[in-house]
This record gives sequence, structure tokens and C-alpha cells, in this order.
Amino acid sequence: MKKLYGAIEAGGTKFVCAVGTGPEDLRDEIRFPTTKPEETLGQALDYFRQAEKKYGKLTALGIGSFGPVDLDPSSPTWGSITATPKPFWADTPVASLFRKEFGVPIGWDTDVNGAVLGEHRWGAGRGLDTLIYLTIGTGIGGGVMINGTLVHGLVHPEAGHMILPRDTKTDPFRGSCPFHDSCLEGLAAGPSFEGRWGKKGAELPPDHPAWDLEAHYLALGLQSFLSILSPQRIILGGGVMDQPQLFPKVRQKLLALNNHYIRHASLTEAGIDSYVVPPALGNRAGILGALALAEAAASR
Ligand code: ADP
Ligand code: ZN
Repeated sequence: MKKLYGAIEAGGTKFVCAVGTGPEDLRDEIRFPTTKPEETLGQALDYFRQAEKKYGKLTALGIGSFGPVDLDPSSPTWGSITATPKPFWADTPVASLFRKEFGVPIGWDTDVNGAVLGEHRWGAGRGLDTLIYLTIGTGIGGGVMINGTLVHGLVHPEAGHMILPRDTKTDPFRGSCPFHDSCLEGLAAGPSFEGRWGKKGAELPPDHPAWDLEAHYLALGLQSFLSILSPQRIILGGGVMDQPQLFPKVRQKLLALNNHYIRHASLTEAGIDSYVVPPALGNRAGILGALALAEAAASR
């Protein structure tokens, strides 16, 4: 019999929980808004208690969480959400709660590291081993896999907070990040549209100059990831990428920035469409990423 896993996509706006054995067998998915930790984590605990009654014991549980998070197994606060500005959630233990309750291995990582693992296992990263997954949503997060391993390092990658060059004459908006002037997240995540243009991205027409500027900043970010990590594929998800005109613009600007320097078939007109891609798992990248984290935890 196939092993049953639990999966939690712990987002700053909503939680998604599911159980299953793989992408073709994801059961009883539920979603609820992220309110206060007691309430939201209580709902998640209840869900898995019921699921175990219905389907039997879980083998492992995977949690892909909004951050920042503590991923250091030797730390007393391993498994916590740490310094988040999200009200009520700073220093909240998450993974330990589920480990205590269900007594199973817990795969605990950032939401985007989960997503890159899920894409590697079942999606756009199959057969590759060095990948980056960027989500362009309320914030910008980056999951990084190098040689088949998810990168944690000092804490975990904060790929959205790289500082970008900005022409202050053509773009006086310093960005929406409270920590940095001109970081990628501040300049290009969803809230930057309201800040710079006074309207949400979804309300701007496809020929609005906002999209060229957005693609410009995203391509600057990708050029740095390309230079440093040499990823075999770059996966771009998140609400802002729901704009069909963005992918071709980002690809062309990345080619222009590379300027034929790094020579590879992926960095050509013929190859770029399959180099910078949307998640193959689509809007299931988050929850399947959590499932992949569970599977990985079970085999450790
Ligand atoms: P989150 O990052 O909160 O998990 P999303 O990935 O859906 O969620 O990102 C939400 C952000 O994306 C919001 O800032 C929203 O304004 C923006 N967004 C959502 N849909 C679109 C769209 N079609 N075009 C541009 N921006 C969008
Ligand atoms: Zn920042």
C-alpha cells in the first residue's frame, strides 16, 4: 500500500491542508484564512485528526511555510515562524506542534523551497538538479535547489530582497519593502503596483508601461540568479505572473542582459521559452510542494 502523507501550505493569507500519496491522489483539500495562530493551527490540527480517522495513520507531514522560519535542526526554536511582521505570528512554533500531536517525521521548510522540491519531483524541474522557484505575489520569495539539495545555509534564501539598480528619474518609487530601498520585492511584488501606479496590477491594461518596468526588474533579478547559481531552469509563479504578456518580456530582457555571455542552448531565442517557465504544477505547486517535503522527511 502506498504511504499516506499530510501536507500544509502555510501562507500568510490562507492555509491549505490535504492528505494523499502523490499528485494523482490528493484528498480532502481544505483552505481557510490565516487569522491568529491558535485558531489557524487549531483548524489544521483538527483537519489531520479527522483525516487520520478516515484514512489511517500518516507516514509523515510536510509544511511549506511563509517566513522567515527557523530551519536549523539543532536550534531550540526549530520549526518556528520567527521575525515575521505579520501580526500575532512572530515566534510561533509550528512544526513541533504537529510532531507532538502526530508523532511522525515533519518536513519543514519555506513555502518556496517546498514549491521547488515539488516541481523537481513532479513538475517543471523533473530530471534537473539545480533550480530556482520565484513567486511574485504579495512578496517575492525564492526557493533554491542546488545539486538536488534545498538550500538553507545561514537561515534560508531571501531571494526577493536583493538590491537592484534603479533609475530614480524614470522610477522615483523606492519600493514597498520597509527594510530596503530598491529591493526586488519592494520594486516588483504585487503591492509595488499600488505604490507606483496607484492601481493593482490586475487593473492595469496589458499595454501599460508598468509591464515593461516589471519585466525589467524581474529580469535584473534573474540575471543575478543566473550568474550566481547557474540554474538549469527558472520557474516563476505567484499572482503577478498571471499576466500573459509578462513571460515573453522577462525572457527577452534576460537574453538582452546576458548579451550572449553565458553560452547555452537555454539562453537562445529557441531555448528561452523552456528556460524561464511557469510552474508545471500550476496553482497546486504550494500544496504538492508540502507533500514532497513530507515524502522527503519520511525517507530521511
Ligand atoms: P500570496 O503571495 O499572498 O500568496 P498571490 O501569489 O496570489 O498570493 O499574490 C497576490 C498578489 O498578486 C497581490 O499583490 C495581487 O495584487 C497580485 N495579483 C493577483 N492577480 C494578479 C493579476 N492577474 N495581475 C497582476 N497582479 C495580480
Ligand atoms: Zn526588501
